[in-house]
Amino acid sequence: MQTKRIPIHSILEDHEQVEEAAGLLRQGGVVAIPTETVYGLAANAYDGAAVAKIFAAKGRPMDNPLIVHISEFDMLPDLVEDIPEAAMELARRYWPGPLTIILKKSDRIPDEVSAGLPTVAVRMPSNTVARGIIGACGFPLAAPSANLSGSPSPTTADHVLHDLDGRVEGIVISDDAAVGLESTVVSLAGLAEGERPRLLRPGAVTPEMLRDALGEIDIDPAVLHQLEEGRKAPSPGMKYKHYAPKARVILVEGDRAAYIEYANRHAKEGACALCFEEDAAGLQIPAVTYGRADAPDSEAHALFDALRRLDEEGYTTAYAHAPDKDGVGLAVYNRLIRAAAFQVVQL
Ligand code: AMP
Ligand code: MG
Repeated sequence: MQTKRIPIHSILEDHEQVEEAAGLLRQGGVVAIPTETVYGLAANAYDGAAVAKIFAAKGRPMDNPLIVHISEFDMLPDLVEDIPEAAMELARRYWPGPLTIILKKSDRIPDEVSAGLPTVAVRMPSNTVARGIIGACGFPLAAPSANLSGSPSPTTADHVLHDLDGRVEGIVISDDAAVGLESTVVSLAGLAEGERPRLLRPGAVTPEMLRDALGEIDIDPAVLHQLEEGRKAPSPGMKYKHYAPKARVILVEGDRAAYIEYANRHAKEGACALCFEEDAAGLQIPAVTYGRADAPDSEAHALFDALRRLDEEGYTTAYAHAPDKDGVGLAVYNRLIRAAAFQVVQL
């Protein structure tokens, strides 16, 4: 397939290109679009056949549901059975932005989107190019991350081209993702009396921000731990091997001095340190940095590109310095522990 490259940096100046992307989507095509979290691979959320092509292009298991992206609040009522007050409160505070809300789905959501679940995941992105394209379409877009299934999510147009050129109708070439990690996912679906909202996937909207809006929340055990054998995944995406480079990643928890000592002691052919910028000076093995230890936003922004660089540079082992788990750090940790297939060394 010939993939159309569509450069869009401003919805005002690149109006024709916005129309071109919307045109491909109206015809049932699959188009990669930028969002503030990561690039998404989009299709008309109301068109089951178009959505099925997303799974084929990514090699994504069909039982892993997609997030539906809207450009204005008025698109929400058609997607869900009802809108609880907690969802209104989250939308008022954090939409548009990197927060996905799980609600009971309406009949308009095809099974391909929800993977047969009675619920649907909805988000309003803050990226203006994403919202401009959805608005031009006039229908919501179902979109998972625009990477091949299993590989790190794409935060640049180059990452998308690397994974999907020739496999989809269009790729919008735009700016790097501002956040760099997928959205926070919180479930409000079918909460019985006394049940709390549940964080299924951490992201840039932190647990503290959710508690500010909702009061106490539950954090699903799968956020930090491997799913127990036999337990049903509350969010099917959490059961798959994820974000994994070809290199073996070992997550190392400890302070700077202990981490550097560990990495140097385990020096070997093909090994590198996946570390913070502040760590690099003391290392005797090559360093691939992912942001600054004192700026968790910079870690989120840099992580997926760093994971891809491990493979580009041919490393076979990476000792990853674990981030602090508070604020956005929880999301960074959640992705890294999956990249490490839950292999953690405590110093
Ligand atoms: P991606 O956009 O590639 O990060 O994938 C979307 C994520 O949202 C996956 O982890 C899905 O499992 C999760 N998700 C989507 N819809 C639902 C849903 N209805 N219930 C629970 N999790 C969902
Ligand atoms: Mg994904």
